[in-house]
Amino acid sequence: MSLNVSREWKRDGACVSPGVDPDIFFAPPDGRKNWDKAAKLLCRVCPVKKDCLITAIEDGEMHGVWGGLNGSERLQFYVGNAPPQ
Ligand code: SF4
Repeated sequence: MSLNVSREWKRDGACVSPGVDPDIFFAPPDGRKNWDKAAKLLCRVCPVKKDCLITAIEDGEMHGVWGGLNGSERLQFYVGNAPPQ
């Protein structure tokens, strides 16, 4: 099922603002806990959070923070509908 969300929302994301380090949206190789805290705080105030989350789910995106949720947290949306491999 596709909700046909336009991808134009990306330009309005809080994460594309000047000075935002894109690396905060992805798990670091050292495996430290709470790596996603800064990213989630930014997503919380993002005007396109809903579109971002829908897109990540539609794409089966398993890595990084999208729409305020990390890959593990997005798994709940794939129940009975496995994400793409
Ligand atoms: S919800 Fe988060 S990851 Fe998505 S566009 Fe906004 S700031 Fe970026």
